[in-house]
Amino acid sequence: MSETQWRTHRLELDDQTLREWDAIVLQAAPDGIVLDRSAFYPGGGGQPPDHGVLLWGGVQTSIAGARKGDDLYLIPGEGDPLPPPGTAVRGAVEDGRRTALMRTHSGLHVLCGVVFRDFGSLVTGGNMEPYAARMDFDLPEVPPGFKENVESACNKEIAAGRRIDVRVLPRAQAFAIPDIIRTATNLVPPDVPDVRIVDIVGLDQQADGGTHVAATSQIGRIEVVKIENKGKGFRRLRIRISD
Ligand SMILES: [Zn+2]
Repeated sequence: MSETQWRTHRLELDDQTLREWDAIVLQAAPDGIVLDRSAFYPGGGGQPPDHGVLLWGGVQTSIAGARKGDDLYLIPGEGDPLPPPGTAVRGAVEDGRRTALMRTHSGLHVLCGVVFRDFGSLVTGGNMEPYAARMDFDLPEVPPGFKENVESACNKEIAAGRRIDVRVLPRAQAFAIPDIIRTATNLVPPDVPDVRIVDIVGLDQQADGGTHVAATSQIGRIEVVKIENKGKGFRRLRIRISD
């Protein structure tokens, strides 16, 4: 089964601000808990999974990550008590980590939009931790002043307070948008009927399943820490996000 057939309704895809919700346990084992509704981001697209907790009848089960398989399995903390199937639980996402990851992920999209707009380079890879990230670009040469120019252009887009909208479009309609796939290869599997679009209005539109802040002004500040040459025209940009 693919992600579209998971039993868990993914609340975070519709409401990226949601941090607490009620759910029912469908299945529970030491290697994974399945809920009917969850706002835990399970990881993907370079964004690591959320951490958090399930509360039930005065008992606490920490959630340390997620595992994607025939269902979405939340990984309980080692030795934590397991809520039996049918239990009503209160789920809570650890806000500090998630908000940091949202700011960082949106920061990467700003970087991606700026480098594409100003240098025409596509993304070849990327990864993030809270407040720190790297992104690889297909860039043959590093022009003079590149690091400083990219950094100031990114912070200009942040200062502009551009809206970051999320919408879901039928596949054909989504792929009709010019340059919608900013990564060099199309990563959306052919059996996915709808495509979620993250739109930094006026700067960057991408097919993306991650969580984002609502406007670029919420990112903070982007610092381009360094540029590494990864060979054959591939440049790795390391960024840091701060207030
Ligand atoms: Zn993304």
